Amino acid sequence: MTKWVYLFSEGNAKMRDLLGGKGAGLAEMVNAGLPVPPGFTITTQACNAYYASGKQFPEGMWEQTLEALHTIEQQTGKKLGDPGNPLLVSVRSGARMSMPGMMDTVLNLGLNNSTVEGLAKLTGNERFAYDAYRRFISMFGRIVMGIDGAKFESILDSYKERTAGKQDTDLTADMLKQIVADYKALYQREIGSPFPEDPYEQLRLAIGAVFGSWMGKRAIDYRNFNKIPHDLGTAVNIVTMVFGNMGNDSGTGVAFTRDPRTGEKTLYGEYLQNAQGEDVVAGIRTPKRISDLQRDMPEVYQQFVGIAQRLEQHYRDMQDLEFTVERGKLWMLQTRSGKRTAAAAVKIAVDMVREGLITKQEAVQRVEPQQVYQLLLPRFDEEDKKRATEQGSLLAKGLNASPGAASGMAVFDPDTAEAWGREGKSVILVRSETSPDDVHGMLEARGILTQHGGATSHAAVVARGLGKPCVAGAEAIRVEAHQFSVNGTVVREGDLISIDGATGEIFRGAIRTVTPDIQKEQDLQQILAWADEFRRLQVWANADYPKDAQVARTLGAQGIGLTRTEHMFFEEERLPIVQRMILAETDAARQAALDELLPIQRGDFEGLFRVMNGLPVIIRLIDPPLHEFLPGYEELQEEIAALKYELRDAKTLAEVTEKVETILQKERLLSSVAAMREANPMLGLRGCRLGIIFPQITAMQVRAIFEAACNVTEQGIEVHPEVMIPLVGHVNELRRQRDQLEPVAKQVMAERHMQIDYKFGTMIEVPRAALTADEIAQYAEFFSFGTNDLTQMTFGISRDDAEGKFLLKYVEEKILPDNPFQVLDRKGVGKLMRLAVEAGRQQRPTLEVGICGEHGGDPSSIEFCNEIGLKYVSCSPYRVPVARLAAAQAALGETQRDK
Ligand code: PEP
Ligand code: MG
Repeated sequence: MTKWVYLFSEGNAKMRDLLGGKGAGLAEMVNAGLPVPPGFTITTQACNAYYASGKQFPEGMWEQTLEALHTIEQQTGKKLGDPGNPLLVSVRSGARMSMPGMMDTVLNLGLNNSTVEGLAKLTGNERFAYDAYRRFISMFGRIVMGIDGAKFESILDSYKERTAGKQDTDLTADMLKQIVADYKALYQREIGSPFPEDPYEQLRLAIGAVFGSWMGKRAIDYRNFNKIPHDLGTAVNIVTMVFGNMGNDSGTGVAFTRDPRTGEKTLYGEYLQNAQGEDVVAGIRTPKRISDLQRDMPEVYQQFVGIAQRLEQHYRDMQDLEFTVERGKLWMLQTRSGKRTAAAAVKIAVDMVREGLITKQEAVQRVEPQQVYQLLLPRFDEEDKKRATEQGSLLAKGLNASPGAASGMAVFDPDTAEAWGREGKSVILVRSETSPDDVHGMLEARGILTQHGGATSHAAVVARGLGKPCVAGAEAIRVEAHQFSVNGTVVREGDLISIDGATGEIFRGAIRTVTPDIQKEQDLQQILAWADEFRRLQVWANADYPKDAQVARTLGAQGIGLTRTEHMFFEEERLPIVQRMILAETDAARQAALDELLPIQRGDFEGLFRVMNGLPVIIRLIDPPLHEFLPGYEELQEEIAALKYELRDAKTLAEVTEKVETILQKERLLSSVAAMREANPMLGLRGCRLGIIFPQITAMQVRAIFEAACNVTEQGIEVHPEVMIPLVGHVNELRRQRDQLEPVAKQVMAERHMQIDYKFGTMIEVPRAALTADEIAQYAEFFSFGTNDLTQMTFGISRDDAEGKFLLKYVEEKILPDNPFQVLDRKGVGKLMRLAVEAGRQQRPTLEVGICGEHGGDPSSIEFCNEIGLKYVSCSPYRVPVARLAAAQAALGETQRDK
């Protein structure tokens, strides 16, 4: 017979999978001899069996529950349903990891019309007994049976109104009796049957409700978002009630062993005297600081501090504790690893290494790479935020859906957001919720605020993708057409607001933002320095300009993995030269334009080389289809039509001649643009194909690279340029370009009588290149996986079209596990990469292999790159610290698996 039920004394911390986090924590505390009220746990396995059998308790579970109940009855001397000495219990869910969306706690289970009288007699406190009873009925009704809690609230409020103080503490025993009667009538109306008087029936229903909450929508959404499997199940904890509301020598509270906001090593928390746990959570009364407990109940405080320290030492991590004091006796109700902010995670990890509690390896594994990213995002100036809070500008709190902080004008529709954003105004887009029709406005907004929707809502997902702050699901605000209201405050279009995506706070007015300086973040620097000791992958950066390269170096980049040279072509003063180069009708005219571009590019490269002194710099030759540098076809057509219309109003012959000239010129341009139009530019004349058709362009770029290298070498700078040829699909493409370009490099070096340490190589971004990597490696000293294109071409999905249209839905509906443009698709794209690495290295053992697609900054993808033995990952400068940590975690994960 399967064992479905464990007394706390039968479990331990290692049984998390079976007993859930809460159950395992309670068991471990019992083992350590700490004061825990007697109780037991029904296993997660029972939950899974419940679902497997069409929502039936598995065989033997109920009998084992009754048996465990009997044991705690003996331990406590109380009995469920016995009016003489009633046992009351709490019923709480507890999955392996703590999970919002799961069932809340039901307290005081076991009360009915006769046990409530017993409780009153036993405690000599009728008011207390009926207060417990009314709480139980409403909790049971709301949590177990799904009755709208507001209906209970409004009954309670109507009685509070009749008291002098209007607080729930002002309710008399008689009023509470009437409330109980009203609650029961409400229950009967809502459910269609009377409130269950039988405590065993109460228990059976409550256990079923905990199991049921595992498959509730919020729980499922949360698991989907956090990639938690759905088959873990939840445990059910049944714990003897202890009462924090039995007078001023009683109370209840929550505390963290360190400050979860800053990581500072002080007990942090709050408690309420003469209250039950739900009062702390519900915020009915303002709790006191935990330090006040020292004054109110010094002995209890000392005992609690001792226990808190012991638990932290035992678990070697910051703990989140719940406790209750019943008539001067302390009871522990929960211990678990506490959730913390990014800053706290870093500080706690570093401090605990210094305290000798954990190893450097553990510290590196305790910080999530995403938290490192958060720490480097703009955030509100603490002082200014404090000022705003003190002035009452904090309007509400929503879900912290995407980190970062922003201030701007509230705007309520995406078109206005787009228009104002383009005018250079800072705007925050405020919507009831967002949809794909809002994306153009989201792109121009500094931040996004929604009334509805959770962590996986459209707003949240898109904001995170864009790296913009988002507060979602701020249910306290009411969004209308051109304003939102919250607690009597109205914010209209154009009013300034501020949102903190890291905390979910929404403020009226602007708050100063600051961009953190990594040099000053000493704890973060320490974690990253430790990470560097453990990682095998190097971290390089994608940077086009010296200033980006500088940022990358400051953040720890060990090279440049991708310089997209064409970005320089788009700059205002250069574009006309580039256009002349493209539109040239003769080779001579083209060369003339290229001669103008040469010194400009050379200057760009010199800047990069200087910043990267001593480190490798990969420069990619021109990649995008040429028409991207020209005006749009439709745009030109409209311009010509307008010019022709204006021609009718021309007054003088000179004016006519001038206009006709312009029209003819534009028409010539139009026909060039028309000739270059492609049905599918992403698969058209781009990448190495350009260099093959117009060899002068790439020859100019290679000359610029080597002249720049020679120039800075003369100034004492150490350079290692690597010339990267993009979009190769067939070895002959690479061979042709290399044969044309390497002589240019050699010629420059000969002209200057210098030898530069250089490499020629290619991107692997066409599936065929990956499949024929052995051939390609004959002509490449390095490979760099361009996983943006490789993903597009492997899936046959155009990213630009997909992300706006169907890709989100694909991810939401689990057709794809993730957006493959963010998280590398290991099974498909990854398989090609693995193949290419193996074949490439077989052909050329010294082949240098890295990645420069966006995946180079994504922790899961980095783990894969570590696994297939790449030399480096290259990512955008601000993700360099993320990648350093992720690379270390990948390496540490590997050694752990090997053990
Ligand atoms: C790639 O395709 O992964 C890549 C880095 O090139 P781009 O994004 O410029 O096409
Ligand atoms: Mg590419």
